[in-house]
Amino acid sequence: MSTPFDAIVIGAGQAGPALAGRLSEAGMSVAMIERKLFGGTCVNTGCMPTKALVASAHAAHIARRAGDFGVDVGAAVSVDMARVKARKDKVVLDARHGVESWLKGMQHCTVFEGHARFESPTDVRVGDELLSAPRIFINVGGRALVPDMPGIDSVQTLTNTTILELDELPRHLVIVGGSYIGLEFAQMIRRFGAQVTIVEKASRLIAREDEDVSQAIHSILEAEGIALRLGAECIRLRSSGQDIAVGVTCEVGAPEVIGSHVLLAVGRRPNTDDLGLDRAGVAIDDRGYIRVDEQLRTNVTGIWALGDCNGRGAFTHTAYNDFEVVAANLLDHEPRSIDQRIEAYALYIDPPLGRVGMTETQALEAGHKVRIGKRPMTRVGRAVEKGETQGFMKVVVDADSDAILGAAILGVGGDEAVHAIVDTMAAGRTAGMLQRTMHIHPTVSELIPTLLGELRP
Ligand SMILES: Cc1cc2nc3c(=O)[nH]c(=O)nc-3n(C[C@H](O)[C@H](O)[C@H](O)COP(=O)(O)OP(=O)(O)OC[C@H]3O[C@@H](n4cnc5c(N)ncnc54)[C@H](O)[C@@H]3O)c2cc1C
Repeated sequence: MSTPFDAIVIGAGQAGPALAGRLSEAGMSVAMIERKLFGGTCVNTGCMPTKALVASAHAAHIARRAGDFGVDVGAAVSVDMARVKARKDKVVLDARHGVESWLKGMQHCTVFEGHARFESPTDVRVGDELLSAPRIFINVGGRALVPDMPGIDSVQTLTNTTILELDELPRHLVIVGGSYIGLEFAQMIRRFGAQVTIVEKASRLIAREDEDVSQAIHSILEAEGIALRLGAECIRLRSSGQDIAVGVTCEVGAPEVIGSHVLLAVGRRPNTDDLGLDRAGVAIDDRGYIRVDEQLRTNVTGIWALGDCNGRGAFTHTAYNDFEVVAANLLDHEPRSIDQRIEAYALYIDPPLGRVGMTETQALEAGHKVRIGKRPMTRVGRAVEKGETQGFMKVVVDADSDAILGAAILGVGGDEAVHAIVDTMAAGRTAGMLQRTMHIHPTVSELIPTLLGELRP
């Protein structure tokens, strides 16, 4: 016999809890199932712990640079990793407990702690309990991809989850993967005082960004003493005494980098392999992501998939926006689609990269005739005043329609300033309109209208 509910939500990540809240407010009985940590990846092993650590690393960096600001901090700066970790753990635990107590106190919501598996399109098993509902929402997220590379089973490696449990700073961290997650860890661990090497298969870092963005980030990281081994066509692992040797190249240059620890940051995979999706008949793609339409409906009536597991976004804000789209269609009778949203994200190195829409390369590939505005942060007053002038602002505009196609702000405050462009694009307004908007002085954002007045073919 199964226990009936109006709705089952699998996974208490970034979409599930908010959706459970809306469904229960609407008077539905909701079963919320979480197998591990309330709040999911973002709260426990993703955004929150990494951004808390980035803040500590920034404090160390600014303390070392104190003299640039005329401030004397006395002795050499040292980092107490135990206190750094304790601060990070508090940020995480507060947020996790917040989500847990919210769900457990939610009217009409019953929380089940355990691993959920479908038994049919309407039945889900958690331990000894069989639950059924006409509406099931999958929010199971993803985990670090452990690649099938030579030697992977012969050494101990770290992921974004296990590196957060280290009590001590690695002596030399070798990071396999020069993309978003790898770069954030690289800079923060370096600023804590460790030796860091990034090993990347491609010929440049974060290869999906424009080449000028990759180059600027390369210079920023190299200037902080991070070693970079790009074009590593022969990545393999073996133990070397107490250390780990990471094979880099087959032919030229030092063939191996020897590190005390290795972090794998080569991508993510969805948590869909152990969910019994075949029993429900839910279709997945060849990488395991659940296929959904623009309203997040799977191929099975009454089953939706939200967040990272649907492959339509890989961020907390895309997961949360998935919740908003599902709730609008289901509860508010307001037709909304994920196709309406504009891609935006940030990379939290220092200075951060705020991104929206297309890169210049993507715009050209899509056949747009483009006009580009670009300004180094050395010509942004606020950055000069703050003594943080690395990076640049860049905007890509359609030469025919004057629509803004995308932007990259790599510079102090870039993660915030980029929202002026996100909002203009979302409102369907042109570059010319934003150019005539008065912004506050002194801010990084105030240079966006100026940038739009300097567009070049
Ligand atoms: C190191 C790192 C840094 C990041 N930084 C950022 C950032 O700065 N900004 C940003 O926007 N995004 C960031 N992300 C991405 C962000 O964390 C994810 O996009 C977001 O957490 C996705 O939310 P979700 O709800 O889809 O899944 P998740 O947050 O992963 O939640 C899924 C939940 O489902 C549970 N679950 C899985 N399977 C089952 C099952 N069978 N039964 C029951 N429960 C199950 C899991 O335990 C988990 O709690 C980062 C990710 C990482 C790894």
